[in-house]
Amino acid sequence: MSSKVWFIGAGPGAPDLLTIRGAKLISEADVVVWARSLVHEGVLEHAREGAEVIESTTIPLEGVRELYERAAREDLKIARVHSGDPSLYGAVLEQAEICEELGLEWEMVPGVSSFGAAAAAVGRELTVPEVSQSVILTRRASRTPMPNNEDIKTFAAIGTTMAIFLSAAKPRPLQQELLEGGYAPETPCAVVYRATWPDEEVIECRLDELADRIRAAGFTRQAMILVGPGLKEGGTRSHLYSPNFSHSFRKAENTSEHLPEEADAAAS
Ligand code: SAH
Repeated sequence: MSSKVWFIGAGPGAPDLLTIRGAKLISEADVVVWARSLVHEGVLEHAREGAEVIESTTIPLEGVRELYERAAREDLKIARVHSGDPSLYGAVLEQAEICEELGLEWEMVPGVSSFGAAAAAVGRELTVPEVSQSVILTRRASRTPMPNNEDIKTFAAIGTTMAIFLSAAKPRPLQQELLEGGYAPETPCAVVYRATWPDEEVIECRLDELADRIRAAGFTRQAMILVGPGLKEGGTRSHLYSPNFSHSFRKAENTSEHLPEEADAAAS
């Protein structure tokens, strides 16, 4: 049996941010399933002539089951293209379950997530030495409730960088929860609407202006909200490039300094 379903990350929008592996698998697929509103049409250029192309918003989950049943029956290769990276808010799990039930092989192919694309749009690192060394990828509750202890306020109390998905539609409660959690009102924020698409827009502001700015711009969806003290322009100089810091590619001027064990990984 050669039938298989690939869940392929298409990246944030720009078609050249699709991975080479993703493009190759799309070109080999008998069926390509994609969402017009979230994935750039350019990814379809990789589809081979004669491949069946299905717009995913036109099929409910039952339709997905039918499609995967047909794949198993007819030995089809299916490329299911997801926005960004399929491991984040991709609803891959329920589809993978269907594959398991049908005994259909499946595999995930990573993609460039929108949080990285948003950071690139504003030219910031999300981890800044001595300021923030962790990134919280999260969202606000909506129709999808949040598990206990995963509310914005609890995460805000940690004070590191947050990348907030799916949450531009209600910016006022979002801002309030971020402030109540403990971020200072002047905490830098960046909102990137449709990162890497031709109509990309960027807002950079203080946290206490966040909701007004999002409202004024009219963003309700496809916006990534980055918050945290590390987003300040300039940031702190990384130890990695300090003259007193040594790693495997460079010897420190002051050789008495020890090489932290993670330096290699961080420098590569
Ligand atoms: N798997 C995707 C996320 C899907 S959930 C990923 O890894 O990026 C959809 C949310 O992702 C949107 O509400 C928005 O917050 C964010 N998003 C997806 N594409 C985006 C883009 N091009 N620019 C900004 N945010 C984006």
